[in-house]
Amino acid sequence: MLVRNSELREALDSIRNVEDRFNRRFRYPWTFLNDEPFTEEFVNYTTGMASGKTNYGLIEPAQWSVPDYIDKKKIEEGMENMVSKNVIYGGSLSYRNMCRYNSGFFYRHPIVNQYRWYWRVEPGVQFYCDQLYDPFSFMRENGKVYGFVMAMYEYLLTIETLWDSTKEFVRNHPQYLAANNSLDFFVDNSEPSKEGDKEFDGDYNLCHFWSNFEIADLDFWRSPAYSDYFDFLDRKGGFFYERWGDAPVHSLAAGLFLPKSAIHHFGDIGYRHPPYARCPQDEESHQSGRCYCARDAHFDDDGYSCLPRWWNVAGMNRGAGPKGQH
Ligand code: GDP
Ligand code: MN
Repeated sequence: MLVRNSELREALDSIRNVEDRFNRRFRYPWTFLNDEPFTEEFVNYTTGMASGKTNYGLIEPAQWSVPDYIDKKKIEEGMENMVSKNVIYGGSLSYRNMCRYNSGFFYRHPIVNQYRWYWRVEPGVQFYCDQLYDPFSFMRENGKVYGFVMAMYEYLLTIETLWDSTKEFVRNHPQYLAANNSLDFFVDNSEPSKEGDKEFDGDYNLCHFWSNFEIADLDFWRSPAYSDYFDFLDRKGGFFYERWGDAPVHSLAAGLFLPKSAIHHFGDIGYRHPPYARCPQDEESHQSGRCYCARDAHFDDDGYSCLPRWWNVAGMNRGAGPKGQH
């Protein structure tokens, strides 16, 4: 969990949820990261709420600040423009640092470095159902690398040049493009033209996995493909000049550098990150999983959800699946 001291209440809410629904049976360790030292109060209360060991890490200032090669004036102009267009967090530098950190640094923090798998938890989220099996084991045993719950459209203004930059990167490193990738999740009209240049066709439809929930293999972020991709994007400056989010960055990387079989939709997880929520639709989740949510809280079918596209890409039927389904 990346979190501020001021979010203690919301952090405790999330920890309580995850503990009651899952972790009290598994006792996995928690890691909290912050760009400022955690207060004694934060440490005491969160440790008290957690069933497993707790770790508290401070982020290096160089990983939470504007690099030298970035033009500060240009950041200001970009922010003013976004503020004038009412883009959420458009004028926030800390939000930009946060997105860049989640894109390129959390997985190499010395504490996180000792781990292979993580479940990202944000303050103020809710889990609606018992998590009866171990999702880390599920991922590992089924060859999954990246797991998500909700998918939606990004605000174009925050990532205006991300797709072009991504195409440029892939053009320069065609070896990183996976066979059986998820390009069709990102591009509606991708023409299966000549084999190998498919990636250059079409516009980005802005679909991405909502990264406030992620269960994933840290080694993917540590791989040459992703490291090179992040460094390339970081040099472009879009984390600051625009407001590139870690969600589209993670999504494009997972979708292009992994086969789609390595991406897992947790259809049996009920989850809420305001303002959206989704509740599993199947009977089993509600009966043995003790879900406490209304089935009509179903962002999956919302006009703003990209999940129907994912069902198409992954060749799945609509709806929540029990464990084992994509
Ligand atoms: P949103 O979900 O896009 O609206 O953004 P959030 O405010 O939830 O931020 C995403 C994550 O980064 C959450 O886990 C926050 O607690 C964390 N976060 C955001 N800004 C900061 C910050 O300035 N410092 C720290 N330590 N964490 C932050
Ligand atoms: Mn959030």
